[in-house]
Amino acid sequence: MNWNTILIRYGEMSLKGKNKSKFVRKLKENIKAALQELTTLTMRAERDRMFLYTERPEELIRAIEILPTVFGIQSFSPIAICEPTLEAIKQTSLDVIGNTETEGKTFKVEVKRTDKTFPLVTGELQQELGGHVLRAFPELIVKMKKPEILLYVEIQRGAAYISSHIYKGAGGMPVGSNGHSLLLLSGGIDSPVAGYLMMKRGVSFDAIHFASPPFTSDLAKQKVEDIVRQLTKFGATIRLHVIPFTELQQAIVKQVPSNLSMTTTRRMMMQIADRVREEIHALGLITGESLGQVASQTLESLTAINEVTSTPVLRPLVAMDKLEIIQIAETIGTYPISIRPYEDCCTIFAPSSAKTKPQLEKVRYYESFENFEAMVEEAVNKRITIIPSEQNEEEFNDLL
Ligand code: ATP
Ligand code: MG
Repeated sequence: MNWNTILIRYGEMSLKGKNKSKFVRKLKENIKAALQELTTLTMRAERDRMFLYTERPEELIRAIEILPTVFGIQSFSPIAICEPTLEAIKQTSLDVIGNTETEGKTFKVEVKRTDKTFPLVTGELQQELGGHVLRAFPELIVKMKKPEILLYVEIQRGAAYISSHIYKGAGGMPVGSNGHSLLLLSGGIDSPVAGYLMMKRGVSFDAIHFASPPFTSDLAKQKVEDIVRQLTKFGATIRLHVIPFTELQQAIVKQVPSNLSMTTTRRMMMQIADRVREEIHALGLITGESLGQVASQTLESLTAINEVTSTPVLRPLVAMDKLEIIQIAETIGTYPISIRPYEDCCTIFAPSSAKTKPQLEKVRYYESFENFEAMVEEAVNKRITIIPSEQNEEEFNDLL
């Protein structure tokens, strides 16, 4: 049996024209990168699906493990390919079913006949194949709705594809097919989830982190690097820009009354992030803000924060509950890293009571006492850029 192929079905089937070809091109590139360890792998992309071929069964198994992390894939199936004749299809169906656990399992046959010249019509073929399989595997129980084994047979001109299992893909769009942005990444629970959700919509990004040493420790920075590493597993290299933020925060504490200092802090972060965004030619900013979660996330606060930039600020968590966010964080593996106890710059300088309705004129008034413009500039220039990868994680562990 020719059991060496995986059929990949795309998400976002409604895409048309140039968007579609961009989607397919990017997806092919991303799958290739995700599966680069598989040395015998070859690929062929069509408009509506893709085929992966490998001669080694262990590589096929590894591909099945990795493919669910690649955005843009709706589902995929290992398939057997045979001649489009009734005899070959019957035999290959038995081979395919013979490869799975059949004891006590429910079962159904589904046929799609793209080649209309095939001598049997769909219904006839379904019956014929169903009977044939049941005679060979009498333990199978026929079930029309949600069977455990779905023998799926697709007849094309020149070949028939046969599979017994459909694996669920990650959905969404290929990372990088929807432009590049800059993620404000704190080390908390929310911003990594925000990054993940934008990746799912095809956005690739750099990350920016504000650190306030010595008030924030090296372990806090390490935590952010680990989050970046975890996010990298979903399909893109992520550069991390670390901004020295201590001086700015001290100036804010000095000049701005404590109930407005959080607003100014956020405005400074936004300005710095926007400058870096421009330098790296990214199009948008991403944050983990969720409406009403804390004082700095009311609509009034967001208005005051947004005033410093006209760049689109993507806030994928804006309408989500904390519990929903935590659930995603757990699924994507960032939660255990995010709850490590190291202080974030904002927690350390956080005022006891922040205004939920900051008045812009007041904020601007207090900000006018300091040359914040120059400090923003300096912070941008003093940033350190790193690429946390799997590899330097190992190097780091060696040092411990
Ligand atoms: P998170 O869990 O992402 O820290 P949060 O619920 O703690 O979010 P805030 O502290 O109000 O909310 O931060 C709102 C957003 O501002 C964060 O989601 C993140 O995008 C950005 N942000 C906050 N602190 C930092 C930081 N030190 N470095 C980079 N971005 C930050
Ligand atoms: Mg936070």
